[in-house]
Amino acid sequence: MTNNRCFAGLVCDCCYLIPLRLLERLSGSGDPNLASAAARTVRLTASMQAFRAQLSTGAPPPTAAVRTGLRRQVFTCSGFDDLPGDPARSESDPAVADPAVNQALDHAGTTWEFYNQIFKRESVDGHGKTLTSSVHYSQNYDNAFWNGQQMVYDDGDGRVFQNFTNALEVIGHELTHGVTQFTAQLLYRDQPGALNESFSDVFGSMVKQWSLGQSVDEADWLIGAGILAPGVKGKALRDMANPGTAYDDPLLGKDPQPGHMKDYVDTADDNGGVHTNSGIPNLAFVLAAKAIGGRAWDVTGRIWYVTLTERLTAQADFLKCANETVSVARDLYPQDASIANRVAKAWADVGVLSAPDAAVSAIALAPAASRAGAASSVAAIAEAAKPRRRKSKKG
Ligand SMILES: [Zn+2]
Repeated sequence: MTNNRCFAGLVCDCCYLIPLRLLERLSGSGDPNLASAAARTVRLTASMQAFRAQLSTGAPPPTAAVRTGLRRQVFTCSGFDDLPGDPARSESDPAVADPAVNQALDHAGTTWEFYNQIFKRESVDGHGKTLTSSVHYSQNYDNAFWNGQQMVYDDGDGRVFQNFTNALEVIGHELTHGVTQFTAQLLYRDQPGALNESFSDVFGSMVKQWSLGQSVDEADWLIGAGILAPGVKGKALRDMANPGTAYDDPLLGKDPQPGHMKDYVDTADDNGGVHTNSGIPNLAFVLAAKAIGGRAWDVTGRIWYVTLTERLTAQADFLKCANETVSVARDLYPQDASIANRVAKAWADVGVLSAPDAAVSAIALAPAASRAGAASSVAAIAEAAKPRRRKSKKG
């Protein structure tokens, strides 16, 4: 297993949908237009990462005022690199002619409603931050990303990637990077970075499942199902339930995600393989969710939410995350030991907990006295977990 190395104290800076590894591969393709777009994306990404590294991020102080309610703004860059661009639509405006603007606004709203209705969260920072999105960013640029302050979407090259704003789970994924930035602040490198990516996939997929009213057995567990252009041999960017099977294409190569610690990829690329090794915690979540059953956000998602927002810190690795999810399962559901058992078994099945560790974790059911301070928030989350009608509203 790798490590908890700290790189200049950076938390989640620019969190991109498309890993640099894929873009660098495309930049060497024989198609000059595709190679040019990918190379340009790599260059712009590097410059933005350097810029973001100078900024401090983190949650507002607990005493800061909380604004309630949904606030959204969408800007259009019209192919320029200047952020945020020109105003295109805000909260009270009717739909406009540009579908990318409407999709960015609608999907940001659905993501906000998911976090608000299920977890009582007021926006990504918990204090009512306006959800700002810019569409049509730059030209020949192949990515979507959260830059620490807002969402940014390009249109894709049309040959490999398209319609970044059309995939709800992609927008849920990117906005969850904002939630992580304001809570656990997981370092965007190695195992903490892979957890950062995994939490975004987990909650991005859950936003989509919630919007569709799907059970864990009905969910497709795909990330980016609609963003691969026609002709690309693949079903999505990632398959949480079957890591390593999302695509196998002459241009993109083969999906490299592992689903078990024995296949963990030690690499310097992609910030230590953050988009690759995330397959391991992704599969742990899917296995836990399927073992527990029902709708992912009701129990399993709640355990992962409390873990992300209350238990993890910047350098958390897979083992820490596994142990904390088991601990949270015990605290949220003290009357049902089978839930903690199923969470522990899921982490054992992907090789993060050994089977004996999983058994010990699940058997030790008494909540630690040191967690007394978290009891009130756990109680509030449990209260919020009571069944209620789901209301879907799109702006
Ligand atoms: Zn991401």
